[in-house]
Amino acid sequence: MTVRLRPHHLLCMLTFVGKGYTAAFTENYIRIAARLSAGEDILVVEGPDDVCGPMLDEPGMHCLNDSVTDRDIRASAAVEALLGVAANAGAQIVPDADFLERMRAAFGDGSIRQACQRCEWSPLCTGIADSGFSGVLVDAAR
Ligand code: SF4
Repeated sequence: MTVRLRPHHLLCMLTFVGKGYTAAFTENYIRIAARLSAGEDILVVEGPDDVCGPMLDEPGMHCLNDSVTDRDIRASAAVEALLGVAANAGAQIVPDADFLERMRAAFGDGSIRQACQRCEWSPLCTGIADSGFSGVLVDAAR
């Protein structure tokens, strides 16, 4: 199986601790985190992905907003610059220990967080990074 993720969720998965917009959203995301931790590949997609799924019928759904598309563009560019591999739609990524370690190091020093600008969750994600990613649910070592 393959987990479909839009580019900025390559960042969000680094700090997911089981919190989110709705119960359905977090329950779905917890299942995705378990799949990623078990080593399932990521297929980078354009627009709403497997994480967005439960939000698509919610009032005020933002998954198709230009601001979110811009977040994807920024995330894609940052990940590509860091890892030297494609991270736009169609790219395949293995979320192994090396990937997560390099991504979390860069997330922690802020160098790949251009996509996080104006995100309402930014204080939470910053705190998680500052804690050494304590309690995160995507972890290749599990
Ligand atoms: S601050 Fe927002 S965009 Fe950045 S990782 Fe956290 S949830 Fe994702």
